[in-house]
Amino acid sequence: ATEIHLARRPEGWPVPEDFTTVTTDLPEPGPGQVLIRNRFISVDPYMRGKMNDVPSYTPPYQLNTPMDGGAIGVVEASGAENIAVGRTVLHQGGWRDRALLDATEVRVVDEAQVSSLSAYLNGLGMTGLTAYTGLLDVANFKPGDTVFVSGAAGAVGQMVGQIAKLKGAKRVIGSAGSTEKVTYLTERLGFDTAFNYKDGPVSEQLKAAAPDGIDVYFDNVGGDHLEAAISSMNVNGRIAICGAISQYNATTPPTAPRNLALFIGKRITMTGFLVLDRFDRMKDFIADIAPHLASGKIVTEETIVDGIDNTVNAFLGMLRGENVGKMLVRV
Ligand code: NDP
Repeated sequence: ATEIHLARRPEGWPVPEDFTTVTTDLPEPGPGQVLIRNRFISVDPYMRGKMNDVPSYTPPYQLNTPMDGGAIGVVEASGAENIAVGRTVLHQGGWRDRALLDATEVRVVDEAQVSSLSAYLNGLGMTGLTAYTGLLDVANFKPGDTVFVSGAAGAVGQMVGQIAKLKGAKRVIGSAGSTEKVTYLTERLGFDTAFNYKDGPVSEQLKAAAPDGIDVYFDNVGGDHLEAAISSMNVNGRIAICGAISQYNATTPPTAPRNLALFIGKRITMTGFLVLDRFDRMKDFIADIAPHLASGKIVTEETIVDGIDNTVNAFLGMLRGENVGKMLVRV
């Protein structure tokens, strides 16, 4: 197998030299094990946090062992009675082209339900569930709400905006880091308006985009975005803290938000959440959203990088914003 290992812990922005590619011989699967040939590998922002040796909700990556992460592949050899060769499985043995795992660590998926297996790492996967539960359960979205989502053209963000529209949002506003992404949001995904946060202060651009204020902020970015959302928040507004990607590579503490006192008069609620705790909603999410993905009412973009040897480039590119929709590696 070809595996990507963490060779040293990045400081600030990761660089290719922080990783090594290692070739290993995997044994035949023993009883209860499956050997998987990966088809798509997910690279995700949370992986940056696992590269630091600090206590967290998820243990840090160990140096010089294969990193893990979401992946989907086909069973090549099986020692597990309940999983036949040829079945497609979703699992955490990413960052490598082949994975030897216990059958208990994989979930068999229905190949026929999707036009591409990548859907299980995108619209029907962890990022889709994050959007669904973050918006509906954490931010307590209600029809008629005006919703602002940052990181809107990414994997989670693209779903948040469309689910909000589908469920009766009054207005959906997105921010992203390029003109191309802003056009994607308004022309393809049906956002009411969007702006490029690199074009000027987020607070001013958000005020112009939401003259009547916002009721829900789905935060993927933190920092200036969060401060701007608090300033534009209406009374009884709700904030779901999903991510803070503007801080993941930072070596100094953020300078915003500076306006938390506004929570009082505006009676704002802000809640952090982890999708890890919300997999009990997967069935509801699939039942609700899969038909809209199938009919094309909800659209998901993906940016595909080819080749296991380009996994590090895909990860670094995702941190830099080179993806529209979900960043994936096709093995
Ligand atoms: P994305 O597909 O959105 O990819 C990351 C994007 O972040 C890039 O494309 C880039 O887009 C944007 N970005 C990078 N740096 C900055 C910056 N300084 N300011 C603003 N935007 C930036 O990733 P995901 O959809 O997978 O994840 C989105 C967020 O959700 C992340 O914060 C992630 O940690 C979080 N998350 C949280 C989960 C949870 O359980 N709480 C589960 C899954 C994800 P651009 O060009 O627009 O800058």
